[in-house]
Amino acid sequence: MDRIYFDNAATTALDPIVLEAMMPYFSDKFGNPSSIYSYGRETRMAVEQARKTVAKILNAHPAEIFFTSGGTESSNTAIFCAVRDLGCKHIITSAIEHHAVSHTVSYLNTADQAQVSYVKLLPDGHIDLNDLEQLLSTSQEKCLVTLMHANNEIGNILNMNAVGELCKKYNALFHSDTVQTVGHFPFDLRNTPVHFITGSAHKFHGPKGIGILYINENVRIKPFIHGGGQERNMRAGTENIYGIVGIAKALEIATASFEAESAYIGSLKKYMYREVQKHIPVAGFNGDVLGNSLYTVLSINFPKSEKSEMLLFNLDINNVCASGGSACTSGVEQGSHVVRAINNDPNRITVRFSFSKYNTTAEIDEVIVQLNKAL
Ligand code: PLP
Repeated sequence: MDRIYFDNAATTALDPIVLEAMMPYFSDKFGNPSSIYSYGRETRMAVEQARKTVAKILNAHPAEIFFTSGGTESSNTAIFCAVRDLGCKHIITSAIEHHAVSHTVSYLNTADQAQVSYVKLLPDGHIDLNDLEQLLSTSQEKCLVTLMHANNEIGNILNMNAVGELCKKYNALFHSDTVQTVGHFPFDLRNTPVHFITGSAHKFHGPKGIGILYINENVRIKPFIHGGGQERNMRAGTENIYGIVGIAKALEIATASFEAESAYIGSLKKYMYREVQKHIPVAGFNGDVLGNSLYTVLSINFPKSEKSEMLLFNLDINNVCASGGSACTSGVEQGSHVVRAINNDPNRITVRFSFSKYNTTAEIDEVIVQLNKAL
């Protein structure tokens, strides 16, 4: 049996058209974009063209787009620099952020550089906006609010506009980890009250190791990575030219086919949801599964048993790739901090299935068979 890949929220397959666009920069067009001779200028133009493409799609200004090594670096930069350069000494975040955010926040807190508050979650895993307003309105310090746009484990989507408006009201800065939504949803940054967002190409059929950081033109930070003058002195290091070309191409493809693909992938999610309900009635679902949720992610929980504890392993033996949530640490499954935060039931185990344009309903049928065998 062919491999069934249902772990697209972790990473996606590179689109062959993206690879094709990147290829010349691995061979002929290797000139350093920062050199002054014309051979380097050619690659500089490719970088700037990519920046314009990304900016146009997100409805931002090219000067607001910075290329980084991925979502992790982008969030580290935004959060560190908001504390260091913009006077935010109080970070408001949630217990369900990706580690790229939560570990950065914890570090700053432990290093005594910022105090941290965790906003309450509603029973369906959404952010409690009343509690957020309460935290903002009573803060003695300037706040950075860092809340993810869509949760990579349970799929819940944040109302970015509502959070951004609250931040405006209380003069707070707003960073949103949008790694699961850039390339999956339309963005209109010029009309969205947010200061920093992040993106990562490998989540939408682009290459790994390249991401973007959007910094709204009204905020000015100093570099996070020091060295050469690349990225207008904001992010040192010789440009990842093939990655930069790749992220722009991947975003272009995702945007052109957004309507059809989001409908198709959403139909796969709903199909699996119904099939699980029909054939595995003991299963439950995490998050706001059919509500304000990513069309790519379906997070399912099962009663814990000796067999179900081996579920991911048994799916793997049968060539099904799915995820248990957060990564293993030292070989010991720690469980997911996200699932623990929304539904701390030690008697359930969670498996996340996440879909892409390359998946089919036939694959879902096969996975249901495998699940029934493995439970
Ligand atoms: N934020 C979220 C929500 C993610 O899903 C990921 C991916 O693992 C990241 C951040 C990290 O992105 P990257 O792998 O590009 O560093």
